[in-house]
Amino acid sequence: MSFLSIKGAVKQFGGLRAVDGVSFTLKKGEIVGLLGPNGSGKTTLINLVSGALPATAGEIRLNGQRLTGLRRDRIARAGVARTFQLVRILPSLSLIENVKITAVFGHNAHWGRAAERVAREALEMVGLSDRAEAQAGDLTYIDQKRLELARALAAEPEILLLDEWLAGLNPTELSEGIDLIRKLHQGGLTILMVEHIIDAVRALCPRVVVMNSGQLIADEATDAALSDPSVITAYLGG
Ligand code: ADP
Repeated sequence: MSFLSIKGAVKQFGGLRAVDGVSFTLKKGEIVGLLGPNGSGKTTLINLVSGALPATAGEIRLNGQRLTGLRRDRIARAGVARTFQLVRILPSLSLIENVKITAVFGHNAHWGRAAERVAREALEMVGLSDRAEAQAGDLTYIDQKRLELARALAAEPEILLLDEWLAGLNPTELSEGIDLIRKLHQGGLTILMVEHIIDAVRALCPRVVVMNSGQLIADEATDAALSDPSVITAYLGG
């Protein structure tokens, strides 16, 4: 049975169909790469699933529950969490405060001590537990990315949407980042990840979906997709 189901998703910006009738499904526990050249509609699709933008048409369901038409906060409650291409944290708050907020407003709505515990676990998971009281704005870039991931994890999501979470990391950080995502997947989390680093996609995702000009042009095993002529042509701008 499909866990995340996207059927005929459309997002129109004026005359542009940034997402133009996209359909695919994810099974529970699956990790899938969302590929495509710049401007192909990947982030817009993530925005539709997370409710950051309302869909023009189509239907998105998680575990049978219709997400389309729900407000962003209800979609978070339903179990969708994400990271952003440009990190979004609360720089004047401490790490633990940053993460507690999402424990409160996430899927399982923890309060008080439970929120504190879930937040500490999330910081532990990303390797930031020893900095819990530091101010978020003082973190390095990679640690801000880790914090943002911890915020998503503290929501205890059913599905995690990563929008180029590995971008901009140095080789050591990249390999740590890949290990971390693998650990989350092995822990049972369902993950849809927009990613341009093909080695990371190969290492993490057995299957990819590929967009071009708002449409899905491939939904297949990663190796097959990366040698698929239509995928190669799309990346070359053909
Ligand atoms: P990708 O993530 O694959 O690089 P995007 O989803 O960011 O692609 O963008 C797809 C298309 O939609 C692009 O042409 C982009 O300029 C356009 N677009 C994205 N967001 C908006 C917006 N808020 N308003 C108008 N056009 C947008």
